[in-house]
Amino acid sequence: MDIRLPPVITTGAWQQKLEIMPDDSIKKRTYDAIVIGSGASGGWAAKELCEKGLKTLVLERGRNVEHIKDYPTASKAPWEFDHRGTVSVEQRKDYQGARFLREETLHWALKDDEQPFIQEKPFRWVRGYHVGGKSLLWARQTQRWSDYDFEGPLRDGFAVDWPIRYKDLEPWYSYVEKFAGIAGNKDGLAELPDSEVMPGFEMSCVELYFKESLEKNFPGRHLIQARCAHITDPQPIHLEQGRNKCQNQTMCNRGCVFGGYFSSNASTIPWARKSGNLTIRPFAIVHSVIYDETKSKASGVRIIDGETKEMIEFYARVIYINASALNSNAILLNSTSGRFPNGLGNDSGLLGKYIAWHNYRGKGSAQFEGLKDKRTDGRNPSNAYIPRFRNVFKQETDFLRGYAIGIGGGRNASSNTDLIGDELRESLLQPQLGNWHIASWMMGESVPEEKNHVRLHKDLKDKYGIPQLIVSCDWSENDDKMVADYVEQSKLMFEKAGFINIKAEDTKSPPGADIHEMGGARMGNDPKTSLLNKWNQLHLCKNVFVTDGACMTSTGTQNPTLTYMAITARAANHAVEELRRGEL
Ligand SMILES: Cc1cc2nc3c(=O)[nH]c(=O)nc-3n(C[C@H](O)[C@H](O)[C@H](O)COP(=O)(O)OP(=O)(O)OC[C@H]3O[C@@H](n4cnc5c(N)ncnc54)[C@H](O)[C@@H]3O)c2cc1C
Repeated sequence: MDIRLPPVITTGAWQQKLEIMPDDSIKKRTYDAIVIGSGASGGWAAKELCEKGLKTLVLERGRNVEHIKDYPTASKAPWEFDHRGTVSVEQRKDYQGARFLREETLHWALKDDEQPFIQEKPFRWVRGYHVGGKSLLWARQTQRWSDYDFEGPLRDGFAVDWPIRYKDLEPWYSYVEKFAGIAGNKDGLAELPDSEVMPGFEMSCVELYFKESLEKNFPGRHLIQARCAHITDPQPIHLEQGRNKCQNQTMCNRGCVFGGYFSSNASTIPWARKSGNLTIRPFAIVHSVIYDETKSKASGVRIIDGETKEMIEFYARVIYINASALNSNAILLNSTSGRFPNGLGNDSGLLGKYIAWHNYRGKGSAQFEGLKDKRTDGRNPSNAYIPRFRNVFKQETDFLRGYAIGIGGGRNASSNTDLIGDELRESLLQPQLGNWHIASWMMGESVPEEKNHVRLHKDLKDKYGIPQLIVSCDWSENDDKMVADYVEQSKLMFEKAGFINIKAEDTKSPPGADIHEMGGARMGNDPKTSLLNKWNQLHLCKNVFVTDGACMTSTGTQNPTLTYMAITARAANHAVEELRRGEL
C-alpha cells in the first residue's frame, strides 16, 4: 500500500522544519507521542504531553474546529435561522440516527453514512466527530467520585476491584478543575467530595424550597447546586487561556466565543499548541495500533485519510487512545497482530466486554402553587443536583448501587401561541405566569455485565474499510428495579414538598441514551481479569494508554467526564516520568 504523508495542520516550528524533508520520510511521520482523539480526554493528554516537552501528534477523525472562528451560529438570534431552529425534512434525511438535531447545532451533527454500526439490541450512540469531540456538545456537569464509588465493585461483588482509590485521583481532580474552571459550592458531603470551585450559579426559589423540604423529611438526601465547568470568577490561569466569564447565554452547544465553559477547543488544545509541540491532523481515522513483535511494544498507528482514503502510518514511543469509549474499544479490537490475534492486549478475551453506561430512564415533573410573589428572570446554564442517596453507606434496597437526580425548577412567563389574530397578539403582549414547575431526571449506575459487549463484524465495513462495530447491550433486572425505586421515591419527595401534578415515569429509553458509555478495556490489578493497570497502560503493551470511558471498571452515578480528564492528566504525567526513566 502506498504510504505517503499528505499535508498536516501544524503549529510547531519543529514540524515546519520537517515540512521540507522528502515526502516519504519515516522521520517526518515520527513523534514522541500520539494521541487518538481530540475530545475531552484527548485534549488533556495533548496538553500534558506537549507541556512536558513531547512532540505530540493528535489524530482526529473529524474536521478541524478552531475556537471562536468555527462557531458559525454562536451569536445568531433566533430569527437569523432559516427555520427558527427546526431542521427541515430535507436536511434530516442524512441524519436519521441523530438525536438533538437542531439548526443551531447542525454543524456538529454526524451523518448516518460516516460510521454505520450494528445494534444487536437497541442502542443510542451519540458521537461528536470534529476537533474537540463531545467537549463541544456536553452539558458540562462535573462531579468527583468518592471512595463509595471506587470501592463499589469490591464491596458489592461485581466487576473487579478498581486498582485506584480516591486518594490517587484527588490531586488530579484539583489540577484539572483549577485549569478547566468549575462553578459550584463546597457542600461537605462524604459521597460527593468537594471540588475546587468558583461561585456556583444561584438556585431558583423553588429549588431552595425543595432543598429545605428534603432536609426536613428525608435526612441524608441533599439538594445542591450542580457543579459545572463554567467560569464564574475568571482566575489568571483562565485569562491566560484566553477564556472569560460565562455570560449565562445558555447557547453553549453552538460553541462559546467567551470560552465561558470548558471545551478542548477553548482550553487544552490551544494550551498544547502554545508549547510549539503540537501537531493536529484532522480527517485521520485511526484504523489500528501497530504492534512491533521484536520490541514487544506498540510502534505507531495506522490511519485512513478521510479525504483520499489512503492508509498512512505514524510512529511514536507512547500512544494515547482517547477516541471515546466505544471507538477506543473498536480500535483496540482492530489492532490485531501475530502476538495479539484478538485485539491489542487481549489475552484475557475480555476486550469489548463489561460495557456499561448510565441509567437515565427515569424522568419526573411537578408543579408548585406557592411562591407566587417570585419569578425567574435570566438564564442558568446549570441545574440543581441530588447526589446518590441509595445504598451509599449500607445496602438498603433489593438492587445494587443507586442513582443521583438532576433537578431544574423555574417559573417563566409564557404565551399561548395556538391562537390567531387579536387573541394571539394579546397573548403575546400579556404573557402569563403559571405555577412554578420542577423537573427531575434520574442518573443511575449500571452494573457492568460480561454479556454487554461490543465486537467487530467479520465482513461488514464502513466507507473507510474499517470493520463495523456490533453493539450488544441491554438493561438488567437491577436497572429495572432502580428505575422503579426512582419513580416511587421521586413521587414521595414531591408529595412531601406539597407539589401538585406530580409525574414520574420509566421512559424505557434504550441503553446509550444517557451518552455516558463506559468500559470494555477496564482497569484492574490482574491481567487475567482486566485490560489496563492502575496507570491506564495496557497490562500487555505498556506504551499504550487508554484514558477515556473505555477504562472505567464501574460507572458511578456522577457525570463521568471530569473523572476521565483527571485520569488522563495523571496517566500522561506518569508516561512522561516513565519515558524520562527510560522505562517506556
Ligand atoms: C449532549 C451531551 C451532554 C453531555 N453532558 C455531559 C455532562 O454534563 N457531564 C459529563 O461528564 N459528560 C457529559 N457528556 C459526555 C461527554 O461529552 C463525554 O463523556 C466526553 O466528551 C468524553 O470524552 P472523550 O475524550 O472520551 O470523547 P469525545 O469527547 O467524544 O472525543 C473523542 C474524539 O475522538 C475522535 N475519534 C473517534 N474515533 C476516532 C478514530 N477512529 N480515529 C481518530 N479519532 C477518532 C472523535 O472524532 C472525537 O473528537 C455529554 C455528552 C453529550 C453528547
